[in-house]
Amino acid sequence: MKAPSTLQQAIQYFKDFENCQRFMIEMRWPDGKVRCPTCGADKVKYLEKARLWKCYAKHPRAKFSLKVGTIFEDSPIGLDKWLTAMWLIANCKNGISSYEIARGLGVTQKTAWFMDHRIQLAMQDRSLTQFDGNEVEADETFIGGLARNMHKDKKAKITGTGGAGKAIVMGLLDRHSAKVRLLHVPNTQGDALKTHVRRYVRGGSYVFTDAWAGYHGLDQKLRSQGH
Ligand SMILES: [Zn+2]
Repeated sequence: MKAPSTLQQAIQYFKDFENCQRFMIEMRWPDGKVRCPTCGADKVKYLEKARLWKCYAKHPRAKFSLKVGTIFEDSPIGLDKWLTAMWLIANCKNGISSYEIARGLGVTQKTAWFMDHRIQLAMQDRSLTQFDGNEVEADETFIGGLARNMHKDKKAKITGTGGAGKAIVMGLLDRHSAKVRLLHVPNTQGDALKTHVRRYVRGGSYVFTDAWAGYHGLDQKLRSQGH
């Protein structure tokens, strides 16, 4: 079946789980090889009945669905609805209201709003995946004055008044895949930093920080201090 061109076709298309699967694999792994979201290995087996993959390596969460590691992971909404919503949002160039999404998908407006919000963010990043390593380093840097490489006293000064007016970039490094994501943050207040960590890093990961107070309040699981 060819790619859908109307909402009705999109609904039909993504009702078929195989189409959802093919679509997700193409988006996540352009070479077509499904990889374990925990260890990155491509030695995985498809369990057809359960619609899950199984990694041959011995580690927790060896069985995984295609939602694991993506913005869809922590929601009970099925891929059929998620992908139809993505199709709708991507194809309505003049924008679409959550009311229209709700009506099109047969979900509540609250659900539609949540989906819309997530999808918009993913489209901005051009990525559906979250950091999938178990160990992530978080660091914030001021462009124009690399705070991270400075002596403690100087750094304290910069993060005090000296940082005012400078662009702040937060870096997230996945120790496992060595993937780096640089994000602009409006300030180094806790909310901005923690929002990024929660959005990009999978729950259960260890986050290594420089003990900066801005990260305090992340769940214990998400945060492990010190290098
Ligand atoms: Zn694995």
